[in-house]
Amino acid sequence: MLKIKNRNYMNNIFNKIINHKIKSNILYQDNIVTAFKDINPKAPIHILIVSNKLIPTINELKNEKDKMIIGHMIIIAVKLAKKQKIEKSGYRLIINCNKNAGQEIYHLHIHLLGGKKLGKIIN
Ligand code: AMP
Repeated sequence: MLKIKNRNYMNNIFNKIINHKIKSNILYQDNIVTAFKDINPKAPIHILIVSNKLIPTINELKNEKDKMIIGHMIIIAVKLAKKQKIEKSGYRLIINCNKNAGQEIYHLHIHLLGGKKLGKIIN
């Protein structure tokens, strides 16, 4: 197992979901991303869009291929927002990075939140 700064990157739960090793509610999957419902939703709609490639944090995006991955993740997030019919009412995309942002799972993911009026996080 790859261990960097005490984080177990190879054994994270999202890898298991992507590889169908544990049960989850997958809404979309292709060869770049997997999207599934958050197990502890913070809004009526709370979907995680996860890169299939193990990129621990957004800090590790580095090359043209990674640029394509993050771009694809955003496009899929928007497609899912439209599928959930929240594109007009509005939604929020969030990427947490490291401790101060409260990142729990070190496997790049975008949170798609919507279905209710979300509080302001920046005033
Ligand atoms: P973050 O704090 O940005 O790393 O977000 C991690 C998210 O993963 C949290 O919102 C958790 O509720 C969610 N999560 C953790 N385990 C699972 C799981 N097995 N299935 C779905 N979502 C999960």
